[in-house]
Amino acid sequence: MTKVIFFSDFSAFPKALTFFPFEKFTGKKVPVKLHMGEKNNPYFIKPETVRDVVTELLKIHSHPFLHDTTVAYHGSRYTPTEYQMLAKEHGFTKKNIGCDVIIDDTGVPTTIEGRTYDVATHLSNASHIFTITHVKGHIQTGMGGAIKNYGMGGVTKETKIRIHDSSYPVYHKDACTYCGVCAEVCPFDALKVTDDLWVYDEKKCFGCGACVDACSFQALSFDADLQYLLACSAKACLQGKTVLYLNELKRIAKGCDCDPNAGPIICPDIGYLLSDDPVAIDKASLDLVNKVKKNIFLKVNKINPMKQITYAEQIGLGSSKYELVKID
Ligand code: SF4
Ligand code: SF4
Repeated sequence: MTKVIFFSDFSAFPKALTFFPFEKFTGKKVPVKLHMGEKNNPYFIKPETVRDVVTELLKIHSHPFLHDTTVAYHGSRYTPTEYQMLAKEHGFTKKNIGCDVIIDDTGVPTTIEGRTYDVATHLSNASHIFTITHVKGHIQTGMGGAIKNYGMGGVTKETKIRIHDSSYPVYHKDACTYCGVCAEVCPFDALKVTDDLWVYDEKKCFGCGACVDACSFQALSFDADLQYLLACSAKACLQGKTVLYLNELKRIAKGCDCDPNAGPIICPDIGYLLSDDPVAIDKASLDLVNKVKKNIFLKVNKINPMKQITYAEQIGLGSSKYELVKID
């Protein structure tokens, strides 16, 4: 059973590290994969927390650098230069953190379960990676944790677009009974159904797949479920590497760190988790959130976040079974 270490106060982080063979990172170039925040979204992981992680990595003589990728939409993180400027605004500088910040815009094709994902060059080249993930809700996947940090955040903008495009619904008119169930479950009001019309607004659709899951008449299909593609993409980033995962369960908002309008905080602060398994740490994070606010991600985003964890386990990314070890 995979160990997941829980600590409510970050001061216990150095002690938590002693549960893992951390010395394996000695002498290695170590990307510290994280999201450094979107403009006008205050919930991202704080530079002070990241600095403490980097300090521990420097103590064991590894060579850390902060790492993330450019995004597929125009804004403040579309190019490496734009993202570097925003990272600086948010306090992620060499002076403040103690290491360089590298933003990738290129990738290395990696095939998982028959599909190719372009893994960010510096992740692809790394043998050892440290992950810092701010756990929060997500409008398309219910929740964003370690799996999503890689599944979407670890790949190039071209792969991000491909993943989204593959998860849009395809309509099969002959099978449709115009029951209207798909329109009822769509969280984004992208569907309208009348007695003899099915109308789809592609501009409003986020490719979440809720309508495909809800249709009992096989009138809707897609190439693949977004949460399945996320799990596969994360595996492309992580397979064959030595990786540690730190999940922060604080400032847990309705929406993602990418969203300038991430909405309200939906769950009280819980603490931190550390693990060497991305599936176990996301499952433990979800369980802890559910303990405090039952099914809150499902309630506010209308998407079941458990799917990404189940898919990830099915394709061999990790195990959802864990033992929670509490330390103070
Ligand atoms: S749920 Fe399926 S059968 Fe019902 S209206 Fe939507 S597409 Fe048609
Ligand atoms: S994929 Fe999601 S957003 Fe798009 S139409 Fe279906 S339910 Fe609505």
